[in-house]
Amino acid sequence: MPSMREGIMVILSSPSGAGKTTLVKLLSERKDFITSISHTTRAPRSNEIDGKDYHFVNNENFEKMINKKEFLEYAKVFKNFYGTTKSKVFEELNKGNNVIFDIDWQGTNQIISQKLENRLLTFFILPPSREELFKRLSNRDMKDKLIAEERMKQFDKDILHWKDYDYVIINNDLEVCYKQISEYIDCEISNKKSSYSLDSIKKHIKKLTS
Ligand code: 5GP
Repeated sequence: MPSMREGIMVILSSPSGAGKTTLVKLLSERKDFITSISHTTRAPRSNEIDGKDYHFVNNENFEKMINKKEFLEYAKVFKNFYGTTKSKVFEELNKGNNVIFDIDWQGTNQIISQKLENRLLTFFILPPSREELFKRLSNRDMKDKLIAEERMKQFDKDILHWKDYDYVIINNDLEVCYKQISEYIDCEISNKKSSYSLDSIKKHIKKLTS
């Protein structure tokens, strides 16, 4: 049995453009919550800081870390490698801090399958509509419509993984979405039943996939 002092693990995943990164930032402002900083072989974007947004490493170093079994999980996403190192995560969990992970479905499945002692809560964030998603993807630093179209195709694949998650949340309004996630986390921490219902979510998923 996990001790009362051990933190919980909260995973947020989503297809690209659903607004997950902002949600992770908001959640990390909660007391006793810290965000896991991943390693990646992707090049930094203009607004990203090494050691804050990611630990940026080259392929060779990433491979070395794989061989030394430093990763709790890792995956290839959009042609780059991303991974979560074990040491910092377990240090924080053992201190009683809760750790938030912004990782994809592949990494989530790897963590689920390890059946760790810490409580694990997984969220899959979805956009309100395909139209809104396309708009968000076209408005990013990727102004290229072709890239947005490519990511829409990826969306059609990624959305199929909603079934792997404890909660599917629609990000129509950032504040509402944040409050919902926070409420479900609070329920988990205090062992209370939440008001979550899958019925309306299933309708939404049907709309997004048809
Ligand atoms: P981006 O390049 O846009 O920052 O992230 C691309 C995708 O990689 C996102 O879906 C993000 O959640 C995922 N990702 C970021 N870090 C990790 C990680 O450590 N492991 C895994 N499996 N996915 C990650």
